[in-house]
Order: sequence, then C-alpha cells, then structure tokens
Amino acid sequence: MTVDTTVTVRVPAKVNLQLAVGPRREDGFHALVNVFHAVSLFDEVTVKAASPRRPRALTALTATGRSESHLARVPLDEGNLAARAALLLAEETGAGFPVDIHLDKRIPVAGGMAGGSADAAAALVACDRLWGCDLSRERLLDLAARLGSDVAFGLVGDTAVGTGRGELLEPMASPGRYRWVFALSPRGLSTADVFGEYDRLRPDAPEPRLDTALEKALASGDAVALGASLSNDLQPAALSLLPELRRTLDAGRGAGALGALVSGSGPTCAFLVGGGAEDPGAVAEREAGVVAALRATGLCEQVIAADGDVPGTTVV
Ligand code: ATP
Repeated sequence: MTVDTTVTVRVPAKVNLQLAVGPRREDGFHALVNVFHAVSLFDEVTVKAASPRRPRALTALTATGRSESHLARVPLDEGNLAARAALLLAEETGAGFPVDIHLDKRIPVAGGMAGGSADAAAALVACDRLWGCDLSRERLLDLAARLGSDVAFGLVGDTAVGTGRGELLEPMASPGRYRWVFALSPRGLSTADVFGEYDRLRPDAPEPRLDTALEKALASGDAVALGASLSNDLQPAALSLLPELRRTLDAGRGAGALGALVSGSGPTCAFLVGGGAEDPGAVAEREAGVVAALRATGLCEQVIAADGDVPGTTVV
C-alpha cells in the first residue's frame, strides 16, 4: 500500500438561488431555506506531513490567492476554518500527525460565496485521506455540520436545499447547466453584520419555505424561469449596508442578465446570463454584454464568469 504524503482537494464556491431567512431561533441561529448551487470558482487546499523541524503544532497555514486585499482577510491561525476542520477530525478520531496546510484561494473572501466553509470541507477530506482515517460519508457530513451551516454543502456540491440552519441537506433535481457572471466587490461584508441588519429590518420574519417556482424552473432546466425565480431575503440588508451594490445589480440587469442577486450575505453580486437549452452563442453574447456593463460601473474589483452546477470536494 502506498501512503500519501501530500493531498490536494479542490472545492467549489456556492451561490444561493434562494435564501429564505426565518425568525431567529432560541439557539441564536436563524431558520433558513437555502438553495445552494456550486459554481466553478475553486479553492484548492493542500495538506502535507509537516517537516519534523517545525514546531509541533498540529497545523501550520499558508495562503496564496486572488488579490492582496482578499488574502489580508484570511486568518492564518486556529481561527481559520480549514485548521478548525483538521483539529476537529483529529479530536474525533484520535488520528493525526502535524500537517502544513496551504490554501490557494480563488473564492472571494468574505464575499458571500462560502469560501471559508468550502476550505473546511476540503481540509476534512484532505486530512481524512492523509491520516488514513477513512471516515464514512455520513461521519464526514456530521463533522461538517458541526463546523458550520455551509460546510456540508462543500462536500456535496451540485444543487441542494439546506434547511434547519442550512446544514440539513437534500439534493435537488437540476439537469441544466448555467452560465454565471460574478461581480466582486473591493469591500467585504461580515455575515454577522448582515444578519444583524436583517433582524433590524425584518423583526417579524415568517417561517421560510422553499419556492416551488424555483424548484420547477430547476427541474425543467429553463434558464429564463430560473432567472425570474432567484431570491435572497438578505439582499435588502446587504444593500442597506453597502448601497452601491444596487448600481451593480442594475447595471447587470440593464445589460440583459436573466436574473441578478446578491450572493448570500454579499457583497458579491451574481448574474445568471443563460444556459439550459439556450443557444450557446446567444449566451456568450449576453455574457459579454453583462461583463462589459459591470466593468464600466467602476464599482467591481473583478468580474468573473463561471458555470454551475459542479460537483463538491474532489481529490486532485
Ligand atoms: P458565507 O457565505 O459562508 O457567509 P463568506 O463567503 O461571506 O461566508 P468567507 O470567505 O467564508 O465569507 O470568510 C468569512 C470570514 O471567515 C473571513 O473574513 C475570515 O475572517 C474567516 N475565515 C476563516 N477561515 C477562512 C478561510 N479558510 N478562508 C476565508 N476566510 C476565512
């Protein structure tokens, strides 16, 4: 048997096709209906056995990434979700030797695309392989749910609906493949701040429900219907904290996007530019128009196109 000394796991970002936020529960979390859709913006997490010469902490972290401003927001200590995932796995299994963890971050940081959660999912899979724990999928999903509401989705990928605080996942039928454009903001938004603003704006939020129009649009692979049924209850709160996002959304819509919304807690904005049974040439033309209009606003740090859905964590 060969023993791996380095394992790299690739993990996608997510966009929420529906984010319905209910009242705050007694445990402080909000009841959610969260339709996750994995898109082809990937982080790569590499774990390798640490050199015997480095101090014997279980994990040591390094990161490279999209830009200095994004990297500056990534903690390189035990506050990093990838390190927390490794520590939890070691604690639960009694396995584990010191590892160096390297994050190659392409998912916007603090952008509402669950980059930290994705890294936690990737670190669980990578350490499980490197340490030879060989946990079942159910146990990995259970550990993921303990690390955070969005972590389990990183393992699963594709399109899935999360309920509870978002961690109880059910795959959703979604045969279509879609093209997206993402407008990255030079600013980050804290998820806690956005939920705080949501509570202020919506003290009487109703119980969240899955949107049946969205479910139908996904099942039929109809990009126009999908664009019309995108929704995010956190969007008013994100716009209240960062009003310039309204201009970004308007620019993409004005250039012909089929749907536009703030991704998760923001500030990344997502634009559906086509897919399903549409003619690829028409989709490419719409994409070019949306990209140009977003760049012309001068508000976006970067504008990036990606496909969805894509699978979850993959060992590379
Ligand atoms: P979500 O969509 O799950 O609410 P997000 O995409 O808005 O999250 P993340 O990129 O996950 O935001 O980062 C949120 C914060 O988490 C960062 O500001 C950072 O302090 C912390 N963090 C911890 N681990 C990581 C990680 N591996 N990558 C990025 N941020 C991390």
